[in-house]
Amino acid sequence: MIREKVKEILSQIPQNIILLAATKGRSVEEIEEAIEGGIKFIGENYVQEAEKKFLKIGRRVKWHMIGHLQTNKVKKAIEIFDMIETVDSIKLAKEIDKEAKKRNIIYPVLIEINSGKEHQKTGVFPEDAENLIYEISKYENIKIEGLMTMGPVVEKPEDIRPYFKLTKELFEKFKRLNLPNVEMKYLSMGMTDTWRIAIEEGANIIRIGTGIFGPRRGG
Ligand SMILES: *Cc1c(COP(=O)(O)O)cnc(C)c1O
Repeated sequence: MIREKVKEILSQIPQNIILLAATKGRSVEEIEEAIEGGIKFIGENYVQEAEKKFLKIGRRVKWHMIGHLQTNKVKKAIEIFDMIETVDSIKLAKEIDKEAKKRNIIYPVLIEINSGKEHQKTGVFPEDAENLIYEISKYENIKIEGLMTMGPVVEKPEDIRPYFKLTKELFEKFKRLNLPNVEMKYLSMGMTDTWRIAIEEGANIIRIGTGIFGPRRGG
């Protein structure tokens, strides 16, 4: 089933769009099946959970951090993940820069936009994003490669469209700034119920969990 679901989604999206499997709570066996179906990118929300799975799956796929990251987990995170999609503060960026410097690498990140401006959620507010990107662009061991957004929980999928539109507008605006260490390449938005709308609005990474693996156990 998982294998077929992946193939079905892949057949419906253009080649240039990355289908990232959101694998929180899923077993290594389930992930293996998704890989057999053609998954090349995995998104995990927690460093510890990712670490366990990484030991078994390794670098056959690209690993993206899609959950909120605490600064004390940065060192471990950049060992595992190929990209952190959820940078939303200078404090976090500074820590990533420090660890990347030690390893002599330039580490790619996306900036998470809190497009619904929900106070309980992570991500930088749209109006604060430019300043954050400007500040992070000064760090030499980080490369900003785009934006990510979740958007609010909506009743009808169509209701998410304005939040995706807003994030795409920011994406284009930041591209025009031509800042050092900033190359707006990836726009990560859209999940199981909203990925079609996200692609219409310019996403080139879609993050799908339930649509591949089925409902999450235990809620
Ligand atoms: C779980 C998760 C997804 C996938 O959500 P589904 O509705 O299961 O497709 C996407 N992005 C993030 C950040 C997630 O935590």
